[in-house]
Amino acid sequence: MTRIGFIGLGNMGGPMAANLAKAGHSVRVFDLMPESVEKAIAAGCIAADDAREAVSGCDVAISMLPAGEYVRGLWLAEGGGQDLLGALSVGALVIDCSTIDVASARQVGVAAKGRGIRFIDAPVSGGVAGAAAGTLTFIVGGESTDFEAAKPILAHMGQNLFHAGALGAGQIAKMCNNMLLAIQMAGTAEALALGVKEGLDPSVLSTIMGKSSGNNWSLERYNPWPGVMENVPASRGYQGGFMTRLMVKDLGLAMGLAEHAHSAVPMGALARNLFNLHASQGQGAKDFSSILELYRDKTAP
Ligand code: NAD
Repeated sequence: MTRIGFIGLGNMGGPMAANLAKAGHSVRVFDLMPESVEKAIAAGCIAADDAREAVSGCDVAISMLPAGEYVRGLWLAEGGGQDLLGALSVGALVIDCSTIDVASARQVGVAAKGRGIRFIDAPVSGGVAGAAAGTLTFIVGGESTDFEAAKPILAHMGQNLFHAGALGAGQIAKMCNNMLLAIQMAGTAEALALGVKEGLDPSVLSTIMGKSSGNNWSLERYNPWPGVMENVPASRGYQGGFMTRLMVKDLGLAMGLAEHAHSAVPMGALARNLFNLHASQGQGAKDFSSILELYRDKTAP
């Protein structure tokens, strides 16, 4: 049994912590939202009064937070941050699963190393359903030995565990993936809206494209048209998945990376504009597949 401290029990962190408890680990948890902590307790986790109590004395500390400033604010002392690294013992392993900017991941990783604490950036792919089923993909940056040490823990939450390279490499790979996902989702919504406008049934069109060269993950596993698939956000009012505002954040990170690399990303830039426009119309809290609403003909009966 490993003593795990888990901070951030949102759409993703909640089910991830629950899977660790189900596997028999001691999982002490903290979130700013009391109702998220209550759900985790019901799933077998132990509540802590604050983040420091959650990670004190643990072997492995995991964070699953919205963005880089949250992760720096949690682990570092800078700008009134919580300096949670100071609560860990030498040799403890920090696994940050948040999707954040590369610079923040490296900053926290270097600070951890300076205190004799191991750190990997380990963003995930697979969505809320993957988090609940324990089938996430982990994309890890950091030292190989730390990746190997984390594997038995990650295996309770995910199926595919990849070592992308040195510190920060997990975030780089994750940004490339999410930029491609955004492009795919916008393209899928566009194709479905066109076919439906011309009189096709969205389920029939999805089946045809799913067996043709237009097939992709957004179409086949996360269909954006309401009612085409069960158990996806589109069929529950776009609630409870990967929020549009988080996709906007990830696309912003990808643009920063492109600028740093002097790499042309015209499709990514277009996708960023589309998701930004969608978020600015009050849709930021809905799942990102709701981008379909930008394309859907609202004048149709
Ligand atoms: P979320 O907003 O549902 O959860 C974030 C949680 O962090 C919230 O419960 C919030 O209260 C908590 N929190 C924030 N600051 C905190 C602090 N200082 N101490 C304790 N708790 C704190 O977000 P999410 O959908 O779970 O996403 C989390 C991360 O995972 C993001 O970086 C996101 O980009 C990434 N991600 C999400 C998905 C998805 O499908 N939702 C998929 C892959 C990756």
